[in-house]
Amino acid sequence: MGTTCQIAGCKNDSPSALAEQKLCVLHFTLSLETSCAQMRRETALGHAPQDRQREIMRFITDQGERLARVATSGLHLTDDLKARILSTFLTLMNLRENLDRASMRSSLGRSVHPR
Ligand SMILES: [Zn+2]
Repeated sequence: MGTTCQIAGCKNDSPSALAEQKLCVLHFTLSLETSCAQMRRETALGHAPQDRQREIMRFITDQGERLARVATSGLHLTDDLKARILSTFLTLMNLRENLDRASMRSSLGRSVHPR
């Protein structure tokens, strides 16, 4: 039982919590880091439309939940993988913070100049 990670050359199993992604824990965290880095660049400019910002927030919540499920599902994780999971959580949290700051800046920008 269990599927293998879809990344070429990777022989790790994909845990059931990641069945949808067909990724092993390592490659799941790596793909999350990549997506977060992209979104961070996107939001850093402060030009991301509200819909996109909401989409990113949903992404952060969904993936954070999934990561938590993987981390607590009783898999045998090496210390290395545990550390990687924690740092991916940090990445998600920082992205969320960035997003909040960017949207605060844009709403502040409006209220700072009363007529
Ligand atoms: Zn893999």
